[in-house]
Amino acid sequence: MSQVTKRLSVGANMPAAGDNVLLNTQSAVHNALSRLGYSETVYELLKEPIRVLTVRIPVRMDDGSVEVFTGFRAQHNDAVGPTKGGIRFHPNVSLDEVKALSIWMSIKCGIFGLPYGGAKGGIICDPRSMSISEQERLARGYVRAISQIVGPTKDIPAPDVYTNAQIMAWMYDEYSTIREYDSPNFITGKPLVLGGSQGREQATALGVVIAMREAAATRNQKLQDLRVLIQGFGNVGSNVASILHGMGVKVVGISDANGGLYQADGLDIPSLLDKRDSFGMVTSNFQNVLSNEEFLLQPCDVLVPAALENQITAENARDIKATIVVEAANGPTTPAADEILHQNGVLTVPDVLANAGGVTVSYFEWVQNSQGWYWTEAEVNEKMETMMVEAVQKILNTSRRYSVSPRLAAYMVGMRPFAEAMRWRGWV
Ligand code: GLU
Repeated sequence: MSQVTKRLSVGANMPAAGDNVLLNTQSAVHNALSRLGYSETVYELLKEPIRVLTVRIPVRMDDGSVEVFTGFRAQHNDAVGPTKGGIRFHPNVSLDEVKALSIWMSIKCGIFGLPYGGAKGGIICDPRSMSISEQERLARGYVRAISQIVGPTKDIPAPDVYTNAQIMAWMYDEYSTIREYDSPNFITGKPLVLGGSQGREQATALGVVIAMREAAATRNQKLQDLRVLIQGFGNVGSNVASILHGMGVKVVGISDANGGLYQADGLDIPSLLDKRDSFGMVTSNFQNVLSNEEFLLQPCDVLVPAALENQITAENARDIKATIVVEAANGPTTPAADEILHQNGVLTVPDVLANAGGVTVSYFEWVQNSQGWYWTEAEVNEKMETMMVEAVQKILNTSRRYSVSPRLAAYMVGMRPFAEAMRWRGWV
């Protein structure tokens, strides 16, 4: 049988996508695969998740009524191994967003050599206006709805925006009840007493700080000499602030969904952490809160977007003062903004590299659960640090070798294992 493979053409025009995270991601995947010389079939398989489930979840609310929520689970590619990725609870969740997030998870796993493909889940809801018991019923209902396609050797969920260890605990309990055996390796980001890993809670933030240190070192700068502006004060943003503050680094600004606080000589991070609620809201305690738009343009050396997608755009990118951007959030920079930052000499450490400390320690959690053998926090942090330092070097080297942006380099390194695994399996 003769094999026909059509090479992807480098620079072939992809549709201009503006803010559509899925189209933007597909365009970047196309770019990466074409530079590596892969075929159109490889792109066809990697441009969309291999499996997507949309579910409708009836939830009994506290007032006795039933509300029906929509949820998704997207599994990008399982050629390397089971899929892995978080579940977000947010009013703006959409199918395209969840699909794009699942592709980004694959890239993170690919860069760090984790034995997983990417996945992502989301439920359209606003947990800030739901009681704890309503959130519990929603979390359990979602697990019942997706239980057929998830599991320790199929697809392993984790926390994401507005979900946390408590929600993981309910999901773990529900899954174990359905399966009738204890399944701690079904989900990561669990509380410590339920098989969570030491260091998981802070892992994404610690990885971001390590990536920041490595990026600064390429410019002969030390963290302690830099002023850092952090957008978002959720799990990742607040932990980045706390770690940096502990290292004596000046955090000049933090923000939440309502706006930001800025102080040129550094904010008192411990007192802000005390005032923060479980959704990362803190600015309601203050007057003179900057709008999100003003906040991003404040003087600083490093900007850490740690909130949602599409925050750095063609409209504000030129006015951003930072010379280094470390993407703690997923997808915070639009492609047009990325281009502008690059032209202005700003070094961007892309999300799929900078925030992958989270999924890396989730992998450690899954390994520990599978072995029933638990590691100390120092062991976890040390292993993650080694992997993050290597990953940053690898991406920056690839970026230099191919004369491409660190983001494109990350997509190239992260996608390659999937193309290779699919070839070995005989899929392409
Ligand atoms: N939700 C996190 C992310 O976007 C973590 C995923 C995981 O730990 O599996 O990377």
